Amino acid sequence: MTKRIFRGIFLTALSAMILAALLITLSVYYVYEMRMTEELRSEAAYILHGLSRAESELAYFEGFASPNRVTLVAADGTVLYDSSKKASGLDNHYHRPEVNEALKTGSGESRRYSSTLAETTFYYAVMTPDGNVLRLSNTRSSVLGIFLRIAPLLLLIMSGVAVVSLVIARLVSWRIVTPINTLNLDAPLENDVYDELSPLLLRLDRQKKQIAMQMKALAEKQHELSAVTENMREGLILLDANSHVISMNASAGRIFGVEAGRMAGSSILALVRDALVKEAIESAHRGSSADAVFERNGRHYQVLASPVAQNGSATDVVLLMLDITDRYTAEMSRREFTANVSHELKTPLTSISGYAEIMRDGLARPEDMKAFAARICDEANRLIALVNDILELSRLDEHKGLGEKTEVDLLQMAQSVARHFMPRAEEKGIILSVDGMDLSVYGYPALLNEMIANLVDNAVKYTDRGGAVRISVAQRDNSIVLSVCDTGIGIPEEHQPHVFERFYRVDKSHSKATGGTGLGLSIVKHIAAVHDADIRLESEVGKGTCVHILFKRLHQL
Ligand code: ADP
Repeated sequence: MTKRIFRGIFLTALSAMILAALLITLSVYYVYEMRMTEELRSEAAYILHGLSRAESELAYFEGFASPNRVTLVAADGTVLYDSSKKASGLDNHYHRPEVNEALKTGSGESRRYSSTLAETTFYYAVMTPDGNVLRLSNTRSSVLGIFLRIAPLLLLIMSGVAVVSLVIARLVSWRIVTPINTLNLDAPLENDVYDELSPLLLRLDRQKKQIAMQMKALAEKQHELSAVTENMREGLILLDANSHVISMNASAGRIFGVEAGRMAGSSILALVRDALVKEAIESAHRGSSADAVFERNGRHYQVLASPVAQNGSATDVVLLMLDITDRYTAEMSRREFTANVSHELKTPLTSISGYAEIMRDGLARPEDMKAFAARICDEANRLIALVNDILELSRLDEHKGLGEKTEVDLLQMAQSVARHFMPRAEEKGIILSVDGMDLSVYGYPALLNEMIANLVDNAVKYTDRGGAVRISVAQRDNSIVLSVCDTGIGIPEEHQPHVFERFYRVDKSHSKATGGTGLGLSIVKHIAAVHDADIRLESEVGKGTCVHILFKRLHQL
């Protein structure tokens, strides 16, 4: 800016100087011309006066001397006398404008310019008493001539003025610009500068206040937004058109095990390389939303990739990540369950249809018929048990038909279950006993009865002749504990975490031989969950098994 002001001032000064030089030259020329005409006139008057007293006009010019050229021309144009050349050598002057005019009006003037010599000659003619024409002339430099003559002086003066205007231009531009450069823009109205800047400072102040207000509103919005994004459980990542992270929330950082604040600018590929996720992101870049599922640290996430802003052909993308582990595992176990159910149903059905076909085709011997029918009966019973268990599980899954919750005396219920199993226990030579405190829980009687029955059924099933099964009800810390312990075959340690899974059996053939469906313990697990109770399993191979159900006292009446 300083340079522009300086250049402006300096060029203005320079143009003014050149213009002034031209005007001065013209003025000088004009003054010259005026003085010369006056000089010629006064000398003509003087000569005329002399001529009127002389014997003859030609005699007057004998020995005549003048700084101007003097010519005497007869009325017919013949030159009678000339002070600088021989009169006889000069041509007829009748048609010279000044001579002609003098002959007509008594006096005449003219000037002639010689471009080769850059000179102008001035002529003044006047009629003499004898009827001749007296002409005086003088030659002076033309405007150009004068200019060339005074040019060195002008140049000197102009250089001097140029230097002075250079200094002044620098000083002025410095004085204009320095206060602007040192303006305190944080407080525009507090600046003490020249008046011309006041409107600018006022506007600056207004704009500053406006910007401050807008910034405040923006910061509030930003704060609101980050409060929402930072507190949401879902992961949120904003990507630019090149799939580089613009921002991500804390949940997204937790999902990928990175510090969210440090990820700006890094490629999304540094976080997730799953082909399906990459495909979803690319599709969002092309403008259409897509989703994919990926797994991180044992948890499953659904990622929704959506385009956010159109930016030429490429698009920014927002990724929303939802933890769908529960849904995912539920879906997986549902699929697994369906596959298992089909398999479990198919096995007894296949043997039923096999035996039935043999009997129908008359291939069985009459003495085997009874045994075959008994096998069909067994398999059908297994099938019924299986279907019942499956129905029970789905009822529990959907929390349907559970009946009314009420106070249930666990000890009484255990005794009733024990009475039911007593004949089987006695048959196997197993001592079945119940002991403990008379404690009650708040729950569904039918379900609790089924849970105890399943546990006792297993205990009797997996305990050999001469063993013992004990049901007890006790109080421990804040819990009411129902335990079913046996001195049976026990469960190997590696199988213990799995026995509550659906259709899981430690020894398939043994379980099947004893009529197990593989669903008993998962029904127990479900019923415990419905009552918000915990399960503890203690088992040692060859020594026995204990299953403890821990009810929270809170659930008591
Ligand atoms: P099942 O109908 O086969 O008994 P469960 O779900 O009730 O199915 O039990 C799962 C598996 O856990 C059984 O197959 C068995 O191997 C083991 N199990 C359950 N209870 C006992 C127990 N009291 N003693 C030893 N093993 C047991």
